[in-house]
Amino acid sequence: MKTLINKEWHETHRMPQNPTLDQRIDWHLEHSKNCRCRKIPGKLSEEMKKRGIKF
Ligand SMILES: [Zn+2]
Repeated sequence: MKTLINKEWHETHRMPQNPTLDQRIDWHLEHSKNCRCRKIPGKLSEEMKKRGIKF
């Protein structure tokens, strides 16, 4: 099976330790554009909808 992880992107875009909600949203927005190894968690996507962020 072909892997969907974009290793290069992950190596240059590490999630900060103890990220704030804003940092998590930013990370997942960039992540969804560059890699498909995981989906945006439900709670986070709800928060993004509340803020009117399209993804
Ligand atoms: Zn990924």
